[in-house]
Amino acid sequence: MRVSRIVDLSHPLGRTTQVYPGDPVPVLTTVATVERDGYHVTHVSMSSQSGTHADAPYHFFSDGTRIDRLDLRLFTGPAVVVDVTGRPARSAIGTDDLAPYRSLLRPGTIVLLHTGWSVYHGTDHYFAHPYLSGAAAAELVAMGIRTVGIDAPSPDRTPAAGEAAGDWPVHRRMLGAGGTLIENLCRLAEIDFPDPLFSAAPIALEGADGAPVRAVALRVG
Ligand SMILES: [Zn+2]
Repeated sequence: MRVSRIVDLSHPLGRTTQVYPGDPVPVLTTVATVERDGYHVTHVSMSSQSGTHADAPYHFFSDGTRIDRLDLRLFTGPAVVVDVTGRPARSAIGTDDLAPYRSLLRPGTIVLLHTGWSVYHGTDHYFAHPYLSGAAAAELVAMGIRTVGIDAPSPDRTPAAGEAAGDWPVHRRMLGAGGTLIENLCRLAEIDFPDPLFSAAPIALEGADGAPVRAVALRVG
């Protein structure tokens, strides 16, 4: 087996990482230096939901599986990129949008929603992203899909300022089925080869609701 290409689908994680409204900003602080101590060490402070990361069922369900106990098969497998670029702000991705891909989707397939919204990362418009409808999420769960990634802060609609909070239908359906969601992906357009293999293993943060990942798409062969 030969990996002929690796596409990095992750944002760098640091002070400029855009976080979900209200979440703490990641801070990296130097605590040892080569000049003073002989080596570099960095103190890292961040939320479990920082940058490109995975959600565990525990994120929405108190009795749900924590990130360090999730089956790693959820984070590695053949990926199907669903092209939903060019959509208006705050528009729904529905079952009709999944229809052309249905024959490619089987249990264990990793579905990557390519909205193109990662270009707005760092701006307020990033939160006006397209989102997956609850019906489409239910259809994916029924097909045996347990991993959905998106190049936006959430697969659910992020309420505009002053708008009431939503009821998180995609989080509830996918995480309620024991699955995971990978958020804040980028560079999905660079997956321009057939049959990509996706990998995004989360850091095994003990008992946590989610963790940063280094998401990649691999071209094998
Ligand atoms: Zn999350």
